[in-house]
Amino acid sequence: MKEYYQIPVDETIKQFETDQKTGLAQQTADKRLDENGPNEIQQGQKTSPWKLLWNNINNLIVYLLLAAAVISFLMDDLAETIAILLALLLAVLTGFFTELKAQKSVESLQSMIYTTTTVIRDGKTQTIEASKVVPGDILLLREGDAIAADGRIIASNNFACIESALTGESDAVEKNADEIYEEEMPLGDQGNVVFAGTAVTRGYAYIVVTETGMETEVGKISGMLDEENNDKTPLDIELDKLSKAIIFAALIAGVAVLIAGLITDKPFVEMIHISIILAVAAIPEAMPAVETITLSKGMRTMAERKALVKTLPAVETLGATSVIASDKTGTLTENQMMASEVVLSDETHYEVTGEGYDPNGTIKKDEKEINPADNKDLMQFIQAGVLCNTAHVDQNEDGQYEVVGDPTDGALVTLGKKVGLDRQDLEEEGFEKIAEVPFSSENKYMIVVYEKEEQRELIIKGAFDVILGLADQSQKTKDDLQQQNERFAEKGQRVIAIASVEGYDGGLSEEELKESLDGLKIQGLVGIIDPPRPDAYESIETAQNAGIKVKMITGDHPKTASIIAKDIGLADYEKIMTGKEIDEQVDNDDFAQVVDETAVFARVSPENKMQIVSALKKESEVVSMTGDGVNDAPALNDANIGVAMGVRGTEVAKEASDMILTDDRFGTIVDSVEEGRIIFDNIKKYVSFLFACNMVEIIAIFASVVFLLPMPIAPLHILFLNLIIDIAPAMSLSYEPAEENVMERGPRSKKDSLVNRHFLTVL
Ligand code: ADP
Ligand code: MG
Repeated sequence: MKEYYQIPVDETIKQFETDQKTGLAQQTADKRLDENGPNEIQQGQKTSPWKLLWNNINNLIVYLLLAAAVISFLMDDLAETIAILLALLLAVLTGFFTELKAQKSVESLQSMIYTTTTVIRDGKTQTIEASKVVPGDILLLREGDAIAADGRIIASNNFACIESALTGESDAVEKNADEIYEEEMPLGDQGNVVFAGTAVTRGYAYIVVTETGMETEVGKISGMLDEENNDKTPLDIELDKLSKAIIFAALIAGVAVLIAGLITDKPFVEMIHISIILAVAAIPEAMPAVETITLSKGMRTMAERKALVKTLPAVETLGATSVIASDKTGTLTENQMMASEVVLSDETHYEVTGEGYDPNGTIKKDEKEINPADNKDLMQFIQAGVLCNTAHVDQNEDGQYEVVGDPTDGALVTLGKKVGLDRQDLEEEGFEKIAEVPFSSENKYMIVVYEKEEQRELIIKGAFDVILGLADQSQKTKDDLQQQNERFAEKGQRVIAIASVEGYDGGLSEEELKESLDGLKIQGLVGIIDPPRPDAYESIETAQNAGIKVKMITGDHPKTASIIAKDIGLADYEKIMTGKEIDEQVDNDDFAQVVDETAVFARVSPENKMQIVSALKKESEVVSMTGDGVNDAPALNDANIGVAMGVRGTEVAKEASDMILTDDRFGTIVDSVEEGRIIFDNIKKYVSFLFACNMVEIIAIFASVVFLLPMPIAPLHILFLNLIIDIAPAMSLSYEPAEENVMERGPRSKKDSLVNRHFLTVL
């Protein structure tokens, strides 16, 4: 049988009984969802209630208690036998129900986090959960989308995907509907289909879904591996160590008891009995249940504080965060970009008034309002900024002006509106876009070619230094512009240069556009302000007081970056490293250390972010790193805590992260770290409590046997103490409020283990 990449798209559409314009009917989709099951990759198995119950039955303590019960029975002590069995039942049931409840709560929180996708059903374009996609659905895939299912492309525009997750190929691959392959092709070369688990880096496409869930290519692979995730967290490892230490102590005590009993001629069975009870006394049986409850409670609190944490271990890791590496734009700043100054290449200078994306505002020259229409060069410059642009600015229900698309582009749209220029109007007047290279953080520019009355113009806008390197102008003009750039940057403004080639006659493919920039003239610069979030200063102060290093990451010019860094109170704001310096120094021996001491990273690419994460991890930092774009996914994966932006972030970034901020705010990260610390404190409290309880029991029994005293407490008492009585106070400790100094002390050191400290203080 032929594969979908080998047949025309019409056949595929027919085969799936769908319609490329109107999609499936909702009813059909519902029916198919029932038949095919949800569009999900089953990773391992979810812990079912039965499995949870079995985990609570199938453990050492239960067997020990059963043995104790058998011995009691053999010793003809029926009352004790029944009591032990009761205790056993209680222990199993409390363990089971507390864990079940915690698991339910975690699941309900996790269900708040899902990937969405755009689908056409009943002729309407709508956003649905990716898990609800069925074969035959028509999806609209856009830049930043995580591709939800395997499918055949119907139509596309400038569409490219990054498929590294599936093929290992790290460059984006262009895809379109046109080509049909005769031969069999490897996945990486099937240019007319898309795969679940990959992502859209640019453009858009309509696809018809051919496979979902475990039937997708990525589903097949994960079905083969089906590995269980056994990664232990630092806390788990410490708790394991602690349990082992206690059990070891009990073992010694048990052997001593046995020997002492034999010497003093006590009945052997009785000695075995005591030893078993001793072992029971030693096992901190309440620990796992209390741990799950504490962490899931923390997860809930964090969700209320606008941070969706995906897993329980992440809750604990957050508390150990020692570095927060945060994007500047949108996380530390408001992302309310406004063009505030313009300078043209002839050095005429204009100020712009107004606020955010509100189109009310004026142009001033030498502090006097002017009529922009009188100034042809200015109008042409602004028009270039409006044309080389992908954003829209619209009023929302509350009457507020909002940008749809890139905020930097939005600033230029608003600037255009202030002088009466609008992209749609211009296009109606005959400007036609015939080519485009979209903005990317790697290139740091965007290119378009417009045609009007057979006259072509190439417009490029982007970071000043990049455009300057491409420009074809006199050294004097370049030097003058450089000075203007510095002047803007010193005010903390993001500088965009706009340049053009008039009468462009080169090719229109991406490669040709990048290479045929002869005669490129910079028309001018625009300085854009993006005010820091009002609470950024305070949150950074809190973090820094808590011994957490805050690092700012941005694609902006180092000067712009350092001014903003200073404004928001970043310590060491003058310690700056640029992306270029990272590339040059990455192989140096002291690279990791230098990165750890740097506060501001400017002009970085997504790849630099990964280098920063791995350097910091090498320096034993616990790193929380923010990100929002498709290319940030690897860095988000690598960081101890990858933090995605819920509002601004792409679906891909959200998938790759451990935590999602529903308000995109830096302060929310700091709040979560605080919550994580409170939780760890409380875990420490009840661990030492349970530990102390167990040790005291062991020592008491041990001493009484060695000194030939009667048993201070009956074995049965120990059981009830351990299994029932101790649990309540331990639980209540897990609900303790924050310590006063929780954000005034340094982060928990990795060497500060639960075992050593408490061993010493208790003994
Ligand atoms: P950040 O991560 O801080 O948002 P970016 O990588 O988006 O940084 O931007 C880096 C630089 O690229 C900016 O300083 C600006 O000069 C330029 N730039 C940003 N957005 C655009 C855009 N939409 N079009 C052209 N140039 C842009
Ligand atoms: Mg940006």
